Amino acid sequence: MQNQIIREEVRASQQTAPRRVAVLGATGSIGQSALDVIAASDGRLTAAVLTAHRQTAKLAELARRFRPEIVVVTDPQADRAPLAETERTTRVLYGPDGLDLAVSAPEVDVVLAAIVGGAGLRGSWRALEAGKTLALANKESLVLAGSLLFDLARKTGGRILPVDSEHSAIWQALASCRPAATPYGASDSGTSGGKDLVRRLILTASGGPFRNKPLDELERVTVAEALAHPTWKMGKKITIDSATMMNKAFEIIEARWLFDLPAEKIDVMIHPQSIIHSMVEFVDGAVIAQMGTPDMRLPIQLALCGMERRPGPAAPLDWNAARTLELLPPDEERFPAIPLGRRVARDGGSAGAVVNAANEVAVAAFLAGKIPFHKITGICQSVLEHHQFEKEPSLERLFELDRRARMETQTWISD
Ligand code: NAD
Ligand code: MG
Repeated sequence: MQNQIIREEVRASQQTAPRRVAVLGATGSIGQSALDVIAASDGRLTAAVLTAHRQTAKLAELARRFRPEIVVVTDPQADRAPLAETERTTRVLYGPDGLDLAVSAPEVDVVLAAIVGGAGLRGSWRALEAGKTLALANKESLVLAGSLLFDLARKTGGRILPVDSEHSAIWQALASCRPAATPYGASDSGTSGGKDLVRRLILTASGGPFRNKPLDELERVTVAEALAHPTWKMGKKITIDSATMMNKAFEIIEARWLFDLPAEKIDVMIHPQSIIHSMVEFVDGAVIAQMGTPDMRLPIQLALCGMERRPGPAAPLDWNAARTLELLPPDEERFPAIPLGRRVARDGGSAGAVVNAANEVAVAAFLAGKIPFHKITGICQSVLEHHQFEKEPSLERLFELDRRARMETQTWISD
């Protein structure tokens, strides 16, 4: 990771031509924030590709505004009529093959993976296969197939840069021990290691809307209450994942792959204010934290610009307001997803694909009113425990395990 940071910084500073971005999931929450960043970049970034699943009218509007080379509608059944005008000036592709073509197109420098769920893995995979830089918001890609994605990146020279705010914070904190930042002109020796100098990573978590709710009331919380996140505005699925803390479980797994550290070195602290985005504790006891307003446009910009710092649309912190920053250890009885995430990070293999699939189906069932909130994590645990663990599944096998786990989850839901 450390060498990757330096390579990426050098690459970004040498490149004066605009970086051409493929925004996968352009109509979503991260997609919209990314387009804000591109619009505010003074031409440093351009939108070369925009994709959406079904929202073709919104995609047509974005195409008018951002003039991409290619737009992709990933659901072949989506209504094509709103794109009639777009088709006169822009290549419009449909379905998963269209996504493959667009992601590997020569017009693309960086692929922002901002599709939600396991469906995002295909775009991440194709981007790395084509040797592109992958700015990764879709953490499910790493939960499902972290090991295979990093193997692929090593083969093709593709890069994976974090967009998730916690992992971006860690990326920034790790940069503090790189040679260029060493004071007193000390030589590079002894400072170029990255992970050897890390005692632990501390992922912060807001605690979501139910941090203080009496445990016996969790079975009665409504969808609207679960969707009312106290600090972040995000898509529905990740908002529910934040309420159950499955999001933090996934972030433990994500950190395990991104920074190549064992699960035992990845801790979680509850930080209700969402100002400290995460921290690294180094072997000498120093703790480096990254702070800022809870605004995804900052980590998105950093990844798209390869760690280059420049003014952007994210609002700065208001230093005139008095502020208290709390850090509390998480209550693992309230949030059993945290030990679950640590276990999946430790086991690897087929565990991530299974728990991700189970979670997607369980969250959809909660949103549809079919199961109560407190059952989501329990169902994921049951599906995980009942599956036959495999140590080194291939990509094809992971897709098969994903499909089976989805069916298995349905049976737990109807029980
Ligand atoms: P969202 O629901 O707002 O948007 C999802 C996007 O994916 C939309 O553009 C939609 O058209 C597209 N999409 C949905 N299903 C698809 C499918 N089957 N195939 C192809 N495209 C599909 O989601 P979001 O909140 O923007 O989250 C996107 C990803 O970023 C998730 O993996 C999430 O965990 C991650 N993330 C989000 C945030 C945040 O603040 N929203 C923060 C960190 C990480
Ligand atoms: Mg996050």
